Amino acid sequence: MTARVIDGKTVAATLRTRIAARVGTLPFRPGLAVVLVGDDTASAVYVRSKDRAANAAGIAARTIRLPAGTSEDALLTQVARLNADQSIDGILVQLPLPAHIRQRAVIEAVDPEKDVDGFHPLNFGKLAAGEPSLVPCTPLGVMKLLDEAGTQLAGARALVLGRSAIVGRPMAALLVGANATVTVAHSRTRELAAECRRAEVLIAAVGKPEMVRGDWIAPGATVIDVGINRLDDNRLVGDVSFAEAVEIAGAITPVPGGVGPMTIACLLENTLTAALRRRYR
Ligand code: NAP
Repeated sequence: MTARVIDGKTVAATLRTRIAARVGTLPFRPGLAVVLVGDDTASAVYVRSKDRAANAAGIAARTIRLPAGTSEDALLTQVARLNADQSIDGILVQLPLPAHIRQRAVIEAVDPEKDVDGFHPLNFGKLAAGEPSLVPCTPLGVMKLLDEAGTQLAGARALVLGRSAIVGRPMAALLVGANATVTVAHSRTRELAAECRRAEVLIAAVGKPEMVRGDWIAPGATVIDVGINRLDDNRLVGDVSFAEAVEIAGAITPVPGGVGPMTIACLLENTLTAALRRRYR
């Protein structure tokens, strides 16, 4: 069996076009502020892509660049200013932050209604309670890919490999919300391969290059690979051995071109959602 490859680039492009069309009907331009502290190269690349994608969708995006030595107080003041700015619907502080700034303090300072990353504890709490909230972009993108793949979630055995606050935990909450029977696996899980083999839906978000082998996968399972790992030879691979898994799974996302493009598209969707909720409440 050869799995159907889920094309995240196409799904993301369709979503972006839909968002741009909806934004085009609004009597205002939703505003997105992206805050970048320091000069980490990868973060600068991400921020540029977010800014460009948002503006292309008709969202008024601006990037606020602060020097690496910015104090926590100065950053919190900047966030407070954006919270109060009526033209701003979404605020995203690019992570990771320099070590002298407490990430948690900054995440908690963002107005939950403008928290387009979905990282604020209030939004996570709402998600865990099954209430509508701003949902972290990567897990939200995974749900859209599962939908695109036509994967039946109600009653399905799903396994999330990884329990981070930004991917694994919100992912598990979304799958529970979609009526899947969810297992969350992590570094302390016993018999990990056997656990994975039981899953009809397997989400890998572990950050270990090609850790999930073909014989960890149930025949016909849907496999979503969130991992992005750069190898020494500069190749980009996921957390799943694609070459092995594609022979066994029913549907699978590639890396790159799977979950990655969905994350930015979902950021745009969250900005639109936040704008509509704030302005038409
Ligand atoms: P993270 O915070 O490092 O969390 C990794 C999780 O994997 C942890 O829960 C850890 O378990 C678990 N883990 C680590 N080694 C393991 C092992 N040998 N066996 C079983 N579980 C293990 O990572 P993250 O931020 O969630 O990111 C995960 C991956 O997704 C990374 O490759 C990242 O680059 C990628 N990512 C992609 C996107 C995207 O847009 N596509 C967005 C975000 C992240 P413990 O909790 O027990 O330590």
